[in-house]
Amino acid sequence: MDSSDEESGEEYLFKIVIIGDSAVGKSNLLSRYARNEFNPHSKATIGVEFQTQSLEIDGKEVKAQIWDTAGQERFRAVTSAYYRGAFGALLVYDISRRTTFESIPRWLDELKTHSDSTVARMLVGNKCDLENIRDVSVEEGKSLAESEGLFFMETSALDSTNVITAFEMVIREIYYNVSRKVL
Ligand code: GDP
Repeated sequence: MDSSDEESGEEYLFKIVIIGDSAVGKSNLLSRYARNEFNPHSKATIGVEFQTQSLEIDGKEVKAQIWDTAGQERFRAVTSAYYRGAFGALLVYDISRRTTFESIPRWLDELKTHSDSTVARMLVGNKCDLENIRDVSVEEGKSLAESEGLFFMETSALDSTNVITAFEMVIREIYYNVSRKVL
């Protein structure tokens, strides 16, 4: 975190990472949140990308620098540098592809290996617009989240369902964790 005291008040900058199998919608969740854009034919470019979003909490400007793997996971090459300094993580699966849900424990392990236990974590079942081909029930998502102590939300980057809510919930949680420590 970078925080600085200015005349206008404190400023916060937190890093958040998005992880999960290829094609679950990580890039589109980020572009929907940061730019209100959706790309049906998105082809991941290799490399790491991030977007910065601001949110006002308790009269303070809280900035989130949200990182996207940008395709690295296809080569199982998400590096420790990607996780370094993260205060929050979204673990994403696709509700229409069970294998992506089954990968979540592996992503959780990787996250635990590379970050400390205070990271705010949310399990995200994306593509909830695809109800007709649902392959993972809401209850299964909830139950995994409960057993691992994660927040849980189903989202759709396509129709915007819960996208802002999911990111902002993680950002607020980080902010409250940090300000509790500071006080
Ligand atoms: P990433 O590899 O995890 O970053 O996934 P992308 O964001 O590149 O998305 C993979 C594919 O899923 C693309 O064709 C997207 O258009 C599509 N997609 C992403 N989010 C959604 C969603 O919420 N609903 C639907 N129906 N398709 C989505």
